[in-house]
Parts: sequence; structure tokens; C-alpha cells
Amino acid sequence: MFDLTGRVAVVTGASSGIGVQFAKALAGQGADLVLLARRKEKLEGVADEIRAAGTKVLTVQGDVTNLDDIDAAVKATIDEYGKVDILVNNAGTGGEDLAQNITDEQWDREMELNIKATFRVSRAFGKEMMKNKYGRIINIASIYGLVGSTTGGIAYHASKGAVVNFTRALAAEWAPFGITVNAIAPGFFTSELTSHIIETEPFKEMVKAQCPIGCSGTEGELNPALIYLASDEASYSTGTIIPVDGGLTAI
Ligand code: NAP
Repeated sequence: MFDLTGRVAVVTGASSGIGVQFAKALAGQGADLVLLARRKEKLEGVADEIRAAGTKVLTVQGDVTNLDDIDAAVKATIDEYGKVDILVNNAGTGGEDLAQNITDEQWDREMELNIKATFRVSRAFGKEMMKNKYGRIINIASIYGLVGSTTGGIAYHASKGAVVNFTRALAAEWAPFGITVNAIAPGFFTSELTSHIIETEPFKEMVKAQCPIGCSGTEGELNPALIYLASDEASYSTGTIIPVDGGLTAI
């Protein structure tokens, strides 16, 4: 089960954090990869590491908020592999601004990347998936797309909430094309985006008190959900949101 040999998987935001883990996990199941992000050097470092284990990896330097870059990524993918089977919409950002303080510019920045780019990248690669009547789209939402918090991040919550219901709506629209659309809602995982918060003692204390499992997630703990949703075997799952959060949203 969960063999991805022969599948072509695109991962956005694969130059750091969770996206790197996802890329390695998909490669581990046999998929050929397309890695997309803005920082070329970082992307190449990740790609070299994965290639060393024998996987085919295409890197595409690009900004997912830029339509030309998205089109170029689709073209590069089709030129290289002739198809796309799996898309992981992982590129994202977060802010901690409170509603009364956030600027319009910051609000737009988070919306542009977290939801609008997720839509545009899905639209572009989805058209290719439709040609083969097969696709697996996995959006990376957040527990903050499911619940609020007292610590700020209004645009992050709004944009990730949008990712959650975008996932459901797209799943309904694209089921007739053989494309499943699901989301993972991670809890807390250390990355460039989060380490300045997650690794502080007050935050660890908060997690210990509020999270049933009592700690943040560790490397690899998101991968089983991803691999399941990316697999042929997940053919009857679409429009689902899988929290991987140590039980945070269960209480
Ligand atoms: P991260 O280490 O900061 O990774 C973000 C990735 O997105 C980087 O590879 C970055 O690469 C890429 N990216 C940012 N803007 C981009 C753009 N305009 N175009 C293309 N790529 C772009 O953060 P992370 O924690 O791994 O986050 C990954 C995803 O998981 C995000 O959607 C985040 O909201 C979600 N998430 C994370 C957590 C957590 O605890 N870490 C929890 C819930 C959800 P470049 O800078 O090279 O472009």
C-alpha cells in the first residue's frame, strides 16, 4: 500500500520546514518530484539530498503569488515528466497581528499567499490533472483554519479557514475529473516560520497544558497523513480535513 512509484508530485514551499519533510516523504514512497520555492540555493540543497537517494527531482524557482511563475512551473513539469499526479499546496506564511492593528498590506500579503496562491496553483496544475482524469491535491491548512486563538494572527486564521472550505468546495467540483482534494491541518511544528515561538519556554508550557499529547509535533509526524492522501488507496477520501495536532482541536 501507499506506493507512489511512477507518480509525479509537486510540492510548493519545498525549500524549508514542513515542505522539505513532505518532499522527502513522497520521494521515500517512490514519487518523482517537482520542488517549487523562491530561494534557489535552498531548493537545490534539498533536491541534491533527495537525488542522492535515487529520486528524480526537478527544481523550479518561482513565486506562487506570481501567475507567470505558476505557468512556468506547470510548463517545466509537463516538459520534464509529461504529467502531474500529486500537488501539495504547502507554501504559506503567518503573522501574529491582532485585528485592531493589522495593516491592509499585511492582510493582503497573507491572503495572497495562503489562499489566493493555493487557488491559482490548484487551477493551473488541476487542468493538467483533468487531462488524465487523475489527481491528488493536498492543501496545507492549519488548526488555525479550524479554531481561533487568543494570541493574534487574524489574517492567518482567516486565510487558513478559507483554505479549509476551498478544499471542500474544490473536492466537490473536481470529483467528476478523478481529482481528490483534501487538507492537512497541522498543529505546532518547528520551522523557519514558527521556531521563534514554538521553542520558547512559555509556549512549551502552554502546549503542555492545552494539548492532550502535551508537546509540539516532531519531524515525520505529518508524513503519514500526507502519504495516505497522496496515494491511490485514498480514492474514496475527498473534501476531508485531517488535523495532525496532538489532539489540540479535539478538546
Ligand atoms: P517555512 O519553513 O517558513 O516554509 C514556508 C515555505 O514556503 C518555504 O519553503 C518558502 O520558500 C515557501 N514560500 C513562501 N512564500 C512563497 C512564495 N511566495 N512562493 C513560493 N514559495 C513560497 O514554514 P512551515 O512552517 O514549513 O510552513 C509550511 C506550511 O505549513 C505553511 O502553509 C504553514 O502555514 C503551514 N503550517 C505550519 C505549521 C507549523 O507549525 N510549522 C502549522 C500549521 C500550518 P521560499 O522562501 O524559498 O520561497
